[in-house]
Amino acid sequence: KKLGIALVGLGGYAGGQLAPALQQTKHCYLAGIVTGTPSKADDWAKKYNIPDGNIYNYDNFDTIAKNPAIDIVYVVLPVSMHKEYTIRAAKAGKHVICEKPMALNASECNEMIAACKNANRMLSIGYRLHFEPHTQEIMRLGQKKVYGQITGLDTGNGFVYDGDPNAWRLKKALAGGGALMDMGVYSIQGSRYSTGMEPLFVTATEQKTKPELFKDVDETIHWELEFPGGLKTKGKSSYNNDWGYLKVMAQKGEFGLEPAFGYGGIKGFTPEGPMPFPQINQQAAQMDDFALCVLNKKPTRVPGEEGVKDMKIIDAIYRSIASGKKEKII
Ligand code: NAD
Repeated sequence: KKLGIALVGLGGYAGGQLAPALQQTKHCYLAGIVTGTPSKADDWAKKYNIPDGNIYNYDNFDTIAKNPAIDIVYVVLPVSMHKEYTIRAAKAGKHVICEKPMALNASECNEMIAACKNANRMLSIGYRLHFEPHTQEIMRLGQKKVYGQITGLDTGNGFVYDGDPNAWRLKKALAGGGALMDMGVYSIQGSRYSTGMEPLFVTATEQKTKPELFKDVDETIHWELEFPGGLKTKGKSSYNNDWGYLKVMAQKGEFGLEPAFGYGGIKGFTPEGPMPFPQINQQAAQMDDFALCVLNKKPTRVPGEEGVKDMKIIDAIYRSIASGKKEKII
């Protein structure tokens, strides 16, 4: 059986990546949509052959509970709406995939996890790179200490924002923050999956070169994480630099990824040379894996608990910027 997915929020990521990926998935398909824009509903219904009965708006969304064609709700909305729609979906009896960053802060994430648990529904975060072969190899090399103990790590993610100055991404109330929330979460993930450890402390600083554009959210942040055993790793995020790399220093050499975090074109290296892996459709692999987890009642490798770990680090980075001091990750 193919499980039915309903996408909530038909913006750039849903339309550009998730809907096309759902044409390639084997265990799930694009069954429904939730949108506030009737013209979008018409376009999508035609393009993807979605029956009227599987089209919802934000007001009648909760009646999705009565629709057996929808098994999974995929929340692809601005960050400030992730909590509400995840909880409403779980209460409607649906399993949930929620996009990154999971929510505005760790406390919201905990509410989402609790709501899904109470409703006995599975919750997953849209961490597509856990299904990407080069990234999986980095996890193996680092976590199994193939090149010995990790002695250092440096990672950055960002792009030069030249989009709409009024977009939700630049509004703190809607996005929770700036490049750290949007892009830095990949670097934080990279530090965690390369080492297989959870950091204890963070020290962070913020830089702004375009205070007009980024008046409400962070533009560039540098941070240092401290892990158990004393390992210190560097990370950075930006809306004003084209970054996208992950470099791991180990006793017997360096390995890493560059480009590290894109939808395709990921390249990996080890002390032996370039990694030989193929590019895959990450979103198709991610959604198929979740569908199989639901079908086989197996835990997902990217549950809400994974999202909240990153949000606790993000919360501590913002605290460190505000205090000017090292902060404990709690
Ligand atoms: P977008 O702005 O292109 O789309 C957002 C959608 O939400 C739009 O369809 C918009 O109409 C709808 N919306 C509903 N209420 C809104 C409101 N009050 N204000 C603004 N928009 C509203 O954004 P996007 O790039 O598609 O991002 C959506 C989510 O997906 C974000 O959480 C983002 O971080 C995530 N994302 C993830 C990846 C990834 O690689 N995993 C890539 C891009 C985006």
